[in-house]
Amino acid sequence: MQDFLEARLAERRAQQLYRYHKLLTAAPGPLAVVDGRELVTFSSNDYLGLATHPEVIAAQQRGAALGAGATASHLVNGHFEIHQQLQNKIAEVTGREAALLFGSGYMANVGVISALVGRGDVVVQDKLNHASLIDGGRISGADYLRFAHNDVAALEIQLQRAREKRDGKILLAVDGVYSMDGDTAPLAEMAGLCKQYDAWLMVDEAHGFGVMGSNHFPCAGSAAAAGLDQDTAPIIMGTLGKAAGNAGAFVAGSRALIDYLTQFARTYIYTTGMSPAVAAGNLHALELMQELPLRETLNARIRYFRQRAAAYSLPLENSTSAIQPLLLGCEKTVLAVSEQLQQSGFLVGAIRPPTVPAGTARLRITLSAAHSEAQIDGLLSALATALQSVAVPV
Ligand SMILES: *Cc1c(COP(=O)(O)O)cnc(C)c1O
Repeated sequence: MQDFLEARLAERRAQQLYRYHKLLTAAPGPLAVVDGRELVTFSSNDYLGLATHPEVIAAQQRGAALGAGATASHLVNGHFEIHQQLQNKIAEVTGREAALLFGSGYMANVGVISALVGRGDVVVQDKLNHASLIDGGRISGADYLRFAHNDVAALEIQLQRAREKRDGKILLAVDGVYSMDGDTAPLAEMAGLCKQYDAWLMVDEAHGFGVMGSNHFPCAGSAAAAGLDQDTAPIIMGTLGKAAGNAGAFVAGSRALIDYLTQFARTYIYTTGMSPAVAAGNLHALELMQELPLRETLNARIRYFRQRAAAYSLPLENSTSAIQPLLLGCEKTVLAVSEQLQQSGFLVGAIRPPTVPAGTARLRITLSAAHSEAQIDGLLSALATALQSVAVPV
């Protein structure tokens, strides 16, 4: 075994794909001490700055008085009043009849897909879907059809194929906002196709929940922003580890969907309930999400970043979300630029295959309501210098 492990590790290193942990003393706010140095981070998913909000931390500390852990799965004795309050709050924020908590977004996606479809059914997915949706499809045993990223015509061909092939269930699962690209799925068109082909739409709101929505449900996510409701986007999954700044995840939808998942989603049933402190912290984070103008601040920071980056002629992608990738292509270049940014006091994610397709290595810059304009200016100036020094044409 040891030989196998070491050979695979050596191969990874030779491909410039080896990943290392960075050691932080505490959550970035957005300043963090990383490997002993203070850096401004542009790599976290804490888009609203709630991970370090003193009121959220105080609520979480109060929640710890309910017990350090849930002591059992939700269906045994691990479902407390605080969990129910959080589920009700999620249903209210998302405009759905009900919601169900999961330990993480990964577990929610795997649990939902494998509970809803199986052998004889088809799951249709965008090629750039998050790994947890893809793994959920695999575990479900359903046939798996993919379509080119955000390509509605290619999607329709797959839905036709799925319908011709079988009369089983069809589940279309997509990210609402793509985690490594920051672009959004054409959800209104997709919902129309789902209606036409009698397919069920599942939207992963990991990067939409809390930061976008409709007039009525401003924090509900990308499906609400696209004008969809419980009928047209019947299954939404959101994580609590991103804009909510905490941990855990949820599925929201009709009462029947939530009752069904409570009975049949194995990643809900066979795992310890969310710790009550985490539930209490999340509940307060969601209240602040509704009350404070954090989304407005985030959107102002995104606009500022894009304006200033354009002035530096940086190669921006077509993203209006908090995720602003710079595609550099080559792993070595991405590593060199991120290394140099770190020297200048900025932490940015260097994203390489297999997280993204080969040849599309990138810097993943994420913005937060907690960033100041001065911090964004600092990043862009350091970035322009770093790109010049590695001879990336800007
Ligand atoms: C982060 C992420 C998940 C997983 O959520 P966790 O709560 O971190 O497990 C699922 N889908 C997408 C698109 C994500 O970005």
